[in-house]
Amino acid sequence: MTETRKTLILGSGPAGYTAAIYAARANLEPVLLTGSQPGGQLTITTDVENYPGFPKGIMGPEMMDMFREQAARFGTEIKDVMGTSVDLSQRPFTVTTETDEVFKTETLIISTGASAIYLGLENETKLQGRGVSACATCDGFFFKNKNVYVVGGGDTACEEATFLTKYASKVTMVVRRNEMRASKIMRERAISNPKVEVLWEHNVTDVLDVSAGKVTGLEVTHSTTGVKQQVEADGLFLAVGHKPNTGLFKGVLDMDDVGYLKTVPGKTATNIPGVFAAGDCQDSIYRQAVTAAGTGCMAAIEAERFLEDQ
Ligand code: NDP
Repeated sequence: MTETRKTLILGSGPAGYTAAIYAARANLEPVLLTGSQPGGQLTITTDVENYPGFPKGIMGPEMMDMFREQAARFGTEIKDVMGTSVDLSQRPFTVTTETDEVFKTETLIISTGASAIYLGLENETKLQGRGVSACATCDGFFFKNKNVYVVGGGDTACEEATFLTKYASKVTMVVRRNEMRASKIMRERAISNPKVEVLWEHNVTDVLDVSAGKVTGLEVTHSTTGVKQQVEADGLFLAVGHKPNTGLFKGVLDMDDVGYLKTVPGKTATNIPGVFAAGDCQDSIYRQAVTAAGTGCMAAIEAERFLEDQ
């Protein structure tokens, strides 16, 4: 017989580890499955300067090691595996891993995060953290007086472009059509900024220059004519959308059109009692480490109260 756990946490970003710290200290003896990228999105960033408590900043991977250590210190059982299927039709819930290990759990905290969508260019991957970023809030500060490009024409792209003007000397938005998807207000705010230019009907088709070890330029291609040109650039910000990692729960948990899990307003409870969602998998607005940690804390407290009420 598989032992039934009180709480199982899926995901190991700030939300998952914070849920683990709170759940472990509440004697819920949590087990946490890290997923395929232990530490989550912060492990692919460099300096984290906006997480309170680190006045000199901290490297993302180091911070996540500390989160993990703190979760383990209170007895969280951390497993470096991916949960690959769930059965939430009855309690205890069942979670099966990629190694076919089966867990039964009274409560489930989902903190599987979200992944920025990239363009899929080879050099884009190689230059991540060396001029290529998908988070202006995280990395904009490193582009003081630089010439940066933002790909996308949605609200995020406009928001990121506007935000980047605080630092960069010039921000060029690369928009693949001759209009933007973004709301009028966001679009106008970005376009009216004197530092922002728009390169309409273009796609970024290559990032230069891997041999320099950092972004020095881009190849951009006209969407209809296919005419290519090279432009100088110090940075490339992707804002072509984020994808919440919620595929496991499709058809089972309520989610919006994009896939963000829906929770009761002001809480982390999902539509299935005993299942809670925290962090970027349920947050399309803030997507910050500190807000993810906050909702992770909420989820653990709600799980504890749920178990008490049973
Ligand atoms: P969206 O899906 O709204 O926009 C994505 C943008 O990226 C579109 O302009 C799209 O172009 C473009 N794009 C997609 N794939 C590619 C590609 N391969 N190459 C080039 N361009 C590409 O995503 P957002 O992240 O902007 O927004 C997500 C949701 O969050 C939206 O509902 C938005 O309103 C909301 N949001 C709200 C904010 C606010 O109100 N403060 C701030 C940020 C987001 P195309 O239009 O041609 O498809």
